[in-house]
Amino acid sequence: MFIETRGNDGIKPKEVNFSEAILYPNASFGGLYVPKSIPKFEKNFLEKAKNLTYKELALEVLKLFKIDIKESVLKEALNLYDEFDNPNSPAPLVKIGENCLVNELYHGPTRAFKDMALQPFGNILSHLAKHRSENYLILAATSGDTGPATLESFSDKPNIKVVCLYPDGGTSDVQRLQMTTAGGKNLKVFGIHGNFDDAQQALKELLNKDEFHKKLKEVDINLSAANSVNFGRIIFQTIYHIYAYVQALKMGEISSEEKVYFTIPSGNFGNALGAYYAKKMGLPIEKILIASNINNILTELFTTGVYDLRDRELLKTTSPAMDILISSNVERLLYDLFGSKRTKELMESLKKERFYTLNKEELSALQESFDAVYSDDDFGKEIMSEYALKGYILDPHTATCFKVKELNLKPLKNIFCATAEWTKFAPTLFSALQKSKTSHSDKVALEGVSNALKIPIPSQIKNLFSKEIIHDSVIDKKEIESEILKFLKDER
Ligand SMILES: *Cc1c(COP(=O)(O)O)cnc(C)c1O
Repeated sequence: MFIETRGNDGIKPKEVNFSEAILYPNASFGGLYVPKSIPKFEKNFLEKAKNLTYKELALEVLKLFKIDIKESVLKEALNLYDEFDNPNSPAPLVKIGENCLVNELYHGPTRAFKDMALQPFGNILSHLAKHRSENYLILAATSGDTGPATLESFSDKPNIKVVCLYPDGGTSDVQRLQMTTAGGKNLKVFGIHGNFDDAQQALKELLNKDEFHKKLKEVDINLSAANSVNFGRIIFQTIYHIYAYVQALKMGEISSEEKVYFTIPSGNFGNALGAYYAKKMGLPIEKILIASNINNILTELFTTGVYDLRDRELLKTTSPAMDILISSNVERLLYDLFGSKRTKELMESLKKERFYTLNKEELSALQESFDAVYSDDDFGKEIMSEYALKGYILDPHTATCFKVKELNLKPLKNIFCATAEWTKFAPTLFSALQKSKTSHSDKVALEGVSNALKIPIPSQIKNLFSKEIIHDSVIDKKEIESEILKFLKDER
């Protein structure tokens, strides 16, 4: 069962099952749903898992959570991993240095790690909608990768409509094209004047606005969300961390029970939260290392215990998927460590005062499981060109992981999460290779890199440039609600 991070308001049910938590992700007082308890691996679970495929392991992990979804439905959802580059290994683990392994999470249809969760999640959610004969509007606010993955996952699914909001000018060309050329009849994409925090804030407000729910009810539609505020994504994001560990065992890189670091390029903190839950389940993780860009609000939190939005402005970087200051899933961590009363207090302080401060004991509790670093664009470019010369290609988000080498770490194996393929951010890689500041379009840079490094451009990316643009509206924040209602009415 699932309970609420900010406690219960006496109106919503005190606890809900998994289906309800993913169909109606808005909890009391603007909070989020979390599992009532996190299951633990049985003895030898990880050793035994060495014989399982990704899909088999995923099913075992999902069963531990005892969610109210039939095994046949889960299996069908997991079959979507067959569409990844290598169905037997949708998230390959690659050794790139003595203690360093990279978990490549970007081999799905939209070339970022969001597919790992959104592919099966979308399938389960549309199954539920159809099974209940209910219609759902799925909202997605994106910093560039959630949007394409959500559109891909729900395209032309019955009983589902999707509205996707992206910050105009805040994404790469490839990311934008992945959204604006999305052809499903049930999809609508809007650029908005503003940044990702604005888009996500607008989404959260709509989710919590009774009047909006009522207006949707008038056209027989329920409201849900595809952002990692939805627990349906987080559950799939614990699995690949577990699988990475098991692969390292299998490769002989680590021995049974050996502790490792996980390093995670983070923004909304969904990926890292998945690793935290995996650690609680019993995955031998020494610490989870959070890598950020210069929007380093998480570095500040994990090193000083202060979450402070005052005097901060969102800065644009070459790792736009991490250009976030309001990191939603931190709330679930706060709940896990400090309970609902304290979480509500902290989140209210953040809303009203624009900051909160953890006390000393609370900060030590965070630091038991986490450490954090950040780096700037120049650091990322240096890493990208250094590794390209060594024959390993990185995207700018994954490059931020390398900053952890400056931490005083124990000599343990470190598993870096590679969150996107270079093809989504080719101009940054191209200028890193050329050691120049000249900026190129995505198209030119893709070809430039492909020629320079003799690597192919996957067809999913190449084809984007000849597709018709279907969604070209860019709107104001205050128009979002009315534009959504207009889309729903026109559709009928
Ligand atoms: C979404 C995303 C991130 C941030 O992940 P969170 O789960 O939001 O912390 C990092 N890198 C890339 C490429 C992403 O798409």
